[in-house]
Amino acid sequence: MSVRFPALQELQNGDKKIAHYNGKKVSSLFASHVFNTRAMREWLSDEAYKSLMASIKNAQKLDRRMADQIASGMKAWAEEKGVTHFSHWFQPLTGTTAEKHDSFFTIKSDGTAIEIFDGDALIQQEPDASSFPNGGIRATFEARGYTAWDPSSPAFIMETGFGKTLCIPTIFIAYSGESLDHKAPLLKSIAALNKAAVEVCQYFDKNVSKVTATLGWEQEYFVIDEALANGRADLVMCGRTLIGHSPAKGQQLEDHYFGSIPERVFSFMQDFEQESYKLGIPLRTRHNEVAPGQFECAPIFEEINIAVDHNSLLMDVMTKVAKRHKLRVLLHEKPFAGVNGSGKHNNWSMATDTGVNLLAPGKTPRTNLMFLTFFVNTIKAVHDHADLLRASIASAGNDHRLGANEAPPAIISAYLGSYLSNVLDEVESRVKEKFDEQDEAILKLDIHKQIPELLMDNTDRNRTSPFAFTGNKFEFRAVGSSANCAGPMTVLNTIVAQALKDFKKEVDALVEKGEKKEIAILHTLRAFIAASKKIRFEGDNYSDDWANEAAHRGLSNFKTTPEALKAYVADEAKELFFSNNIYSERELEARHEIMLEEYVKKVQIEARILGYLATNHVLPAAIEYQNKLISNIAGLKSIGLPEESSRAQKNLVGVISGHIQQINDKVEAMIEARKQANVLDDMQTRAEAYCNDVRSYFDDIRYHSDKLELIVEDKLWPLPKYREMLFLR
Ligand code: ADP
Ligand code: MG
Repeated sequence: MSVRFPALQELQNGDKKIAHYNGKKVSSLFASHVFNTRAMREWLSDEAYKSLMASIKNAQKLDRRMADQIASGMKAWAEEKGVTHFSHWFQPLTGTTAEKHDSFFTIKSDGTAIEIFDGDALIQQEPDASSFPNGGIRATFEARGYTAWDPSSPAFIMETGFGKTLCIPTIFIAYSGESLDHKAPLLKSIAALNKAAVEVCQYFDKNVSKVTATLGWEQEYFVIDEALANGRADLVMCGRTLIGHSPAKGQQLEDHYFGSIPERVFSFMQDFEQESYKLGIPLRTRHNEVAPGQFECAPIFEEINIAVDHNSLLMDVMTKVAKRHKLRVLLHEKPFAGVNGSGKHNNWSMATDTGVNLLAPGKTPRTNLMFLTFFVNTIKAVHDHADLLRASIASAGNDHRLGANEAPPAIISAYLGSYLSNVLDEVESRVKEKFDEQDEAILKLDIHKQIPELLMDNTDRNRTSPFAFTGNKFEFRAVGSSANCAGPMTVLNTIVAQALKDFKKEVDALVEKGEKKEIAILHTLRAFIAASKKIRFEGDNYSDDWANEAAHRGLSNFKTTPEALKAYVADEAKELFFSNNIYSERELEARHEIMLEEYVKKVQIEARILGYLATNHVLPAAIEYQNKLISNIAGLKSIGLPEESSRAQKNLVGVISGHIQQINDKVEAMIEARKQANVLDDMQTRAEAYCNDVRSYFDDIRYHSDKLELIVEDKLWPLPKYREMLFLR
C-alpha cells in the first residue's frame, strides 16, 4: 500500500518534538565544542600554543616537534568532554563532508589498553580514498591519497546521537600532490589574494601586513515532513520532486515571507541552532523565505576558510537534527517546480589585519581612494572572468534556478547602485593628464555617508543581480543552496588577486615614468573602469530585454552545466589558475571531469527515478482509476441507462488513455536516449547527451503525469502531493 495515507495520519496525530533554549544564553553554548584559542590556551603548553598560533597566523608549516604536544592537549580537552574517537574531516569534491573515525584506544605490545593520539595521527591520515572522485588522477599516478591537518580551521567535536567525535579539519590530496577536495585550492586562493591585496594596500597604508577574504553566507532550505518525504522516491534519491502538480495556492499570495515561523519548524530551528552554536557557527538570523515551506538562516560573517567549513558543517548538522524532529531538510536548488528555488548568497569582502573592510567606503580622500581601488578591481575581475564565475556555480540542481525568473540569471553582471555608478562614470569621463581639483573633489566625496543612506532606501537595492554591491561587500547571489561555497569563493579570490596584480603592474609602470602615486592610481582606475563597463548592469536582470542587451554587449549566457563548465579548461583559466598557484593543468582537467561526471550521474539517477515513478506509480494508479470508470460505464449500461449517461466517464477514460500512452512512449524513448548517452566515452559529449537528449523528456513525462494527478481519484494517488508537503506540518 502507498505510504501516503499512513504518513498523513501520522502527521495529524503523531508527537512533535519540542526543542528550545530553555533559558540558556547563546553565549554560554557558543564554541563549547571547538578547540579555539581559548581552549588552546588552557590545554596546551606555552611553547605549543605559541608555535601553533604562529603557524596559523603566517600560514606556515607547524614545527613537527610540537605536533605530539598539541595532539595530546587536544585529546585531553576532548576526553574531558566524553570523546572516544577522532576523525580527519574533509570536504570531498562530491557530497558534503567526509569523516573516517578512529578510536584513541589502542593496545600496547605488552597488552596494556590505553588511549593515544599522537602528532602523526593529528597531522596525516590515509582514508580509503578509492571511493572518492578523482577525475583520473589516482588511476594514472598513485593509488593513494591522504588527508593533512589544516591548522587554520579549529578542531571541533561532532555529536551524533550520544557519540562524540573529535574532528580535525583537513585537506585531501593525492600522493602525487594534486588536491582532491574543495579546501586545498581555497586555501591557495586565500594566499594568492592575501599577497596581491597586501601589495596594493601598501600604496595606502604601510601597516597592513595581511588581507583575508571574508564570507557571510545565507542558507536557504525547505523543510517538509519526513514521512511524506519518504513516500516519494524522487525526494529520497534525488532531493527534488520530478513530478507533482502545483498546489492551488502557491506563493502567489506572498504571505510566507517574514511571516511567523510554523511551530514545528521553529522547534527544529532552535535545535539545530544550538548544535551549531556549540560548533562555533555564529548564526544570527532566521526567517521564512518566499516559497511555502522555505526558510533561511545566516551567520555573522567570518574569515572565508572558517566560513566555508561552517557552512558545510551547518548543512550536515541541519540534516541530522531534522531527523530528530521527523522532518527532512531539502538543500536542493529546486525541490519543487512552480515555487521558488533555494540559493546561498555569498557575501564577500576583504579585511586587513589593521581592521579595515576594504570594500567599505572610506572617510578621508585617501581611504576613499583605497576603497575605490578594491571596488573597481573586483568589478574588473568579474568582467575579465565572468565565464569562470558562471562555471563556479554550475550544477545540475542550479540549472533549474539560474534564469528561471526567480534567481539571478545565468548571465553574469555586476550591480553597483546608482551612486557608485555615477562616481565611476565621473572618474572615467575625465580623460586628461594632470591631477586637478576635480579629482580631489572625487576623493573628497562623502561616499561613506551617501551609500548607507541610499541603501536604506530600498529603491537602490537590486534583488535580481547575480553579483551586487550592498554597501560594504559584494553579494554573489547565484550560488546554489547545496553548493560548497569553496568552489565559487576560490574563483572569486583568484580573479580578484589577478586583477590586483595587473593593477599594481600598471600603477608601478606609471610611477616609474615619474607620475605621482595618486595620479597613477587614478589613471589606472580610469582604465579599469573603461575596460570593465560591459559587465555593469543596474536594471532588471529577469527581463527579456536584458538577455537581448547582454547578448548585444557580448556577455555569455550559458544556460546549462556542461556548457558552463568548459570555462574551467579554457586556456585563460589554465593560465590564471596556474600563475596564481591554485591549480595545475592536470588538476583543472581532473576537476572538470569530476564535475561533468557528477552532472551525468545526477541526471542519470533522475531519469531512472522518473521512469520508475511513472511506470510503477503513476501508470498503475491511472489504470486502476480507468478500470473503475470502465466498470461504472458497464454498470450504468447494465441497469438500462442510455449511452448519454456515461458520456463524462467515457471521455475521461479516453483522456487517461491518451496520457498513459504518452507517458509510456516518452519513458521508453528516454531509456533509449540514456542507453545511447552511456556508450559515449568522452565525458563532455556524454554530459551534453544527458543534458540535451535524456533531460528533454523530463518535462513531457511530468506534464502528462501532472495532468493525471488532477484527474485520478485522490484515494488512488500513491505519491504525497505538493500541497501536503508544502503546507502540512
Ligand atoms: P543585508 O542582506 O540586509 O544587507 P547584512 O548587512 O546583515 O544584511 O548582511 C547579510 C550578510 O552579509 C550576513 O550574512 C553578513 O554576515 C554578511 N556580511 C556583512 N558584512 C560582511 C563583510 N564585510 N564580509 C562578508 N560578509 C559580510
Ligand atoms: Mg542577501
